[in-house]
Amino acid sequence: MSRIAVVGAGFAALTAVRELRKQMPGAEIILVAPKAEFVYYPSLIWLPSGIRKADDLVIDLRLLLSRLKVTFHAGRVTNVTEGGRRVITDQGEIENDGLIIASGGRFIKKLPGIEHALTICEGIASTEQISGQAAQSDGKVWHRDASWLQAKAFRTRQGGHRGGVNSTPT
Ligand SMILES: Cc1cc2nc3c(=O)[nH]c(=O)nc-3n(C[C@H](O)[C@H](O)[C@H](O)COP(=O)(O)OP(=O)(O)OC[C@H]3O[C@@H](n4cnc5c(N)ncnc54)[C@H](O)[C@@H]3O)c2cc1C
Repeated sequence: MSRIAVVGAGFAALTAVRELRKQMPGAEIILVAPKAEFVYYPSLIWLPSGIRKADDLVIDLRLLLSRLKVTFHAGRVTNVTEGGRRVITDQGEIENDGLIIASGGRFIKKLPGIEHALTICEGIASTEQISGQAAQSDGKVWHRDASWLQAKAFRTRQGGHRGGVNSTPT
């Protein structure tokens, strides 16, 4: 029997798991993610205004996983070795015959100053921090758009040239 490990619990991982179960009814499928939860990212935009709460966006996957006969391994993947046949997590290792990595995108925060940026796209924790800061500043949140960051990176590379891009309050 094949043992397939799937990393992640988002749209990609769940789609993979459903398709795998259809095509390989007898396979052992192990889903690895920090929590057996799906977070509905598109609704993150409603958190800062309070139209939605974090709980509204989180779906418990335990029932779905048990219906699909998927074993859940709670943990965060830290490495993959042996050409993918061994997945190392902070909660143990998983040997497998096949591996699907669906752990989503990550932000490369390399532009000067961007390490301080909070973006909604990073998930619930980051979005809740934005909400907290908005509450502390009477609802006024300052954002600097991508063109400002590009101008700042350009100035840094050019040794201090000042561009004419301003920050924008919203
Ligand atoms: C505000 C917002 C609005 C959006 N609106 C739309 C829309 O209208 N239409 C649309 O098509 N898309 C939309 N998107 C994009 C969509 O949400 C993403 O494309 C989608 O969530 C990507 O799915 P994914 O499964 O690839 O990754 P993710 O949803 O990022 O899931 C990654 C999973 O991997 C897990 N994971 C990460 N690292 C590890 C690790 N080391 N070990 C184990 N598990 C790990 C995470 O916990 C998570 O479960 C929106 C996104 C945002 C933020």
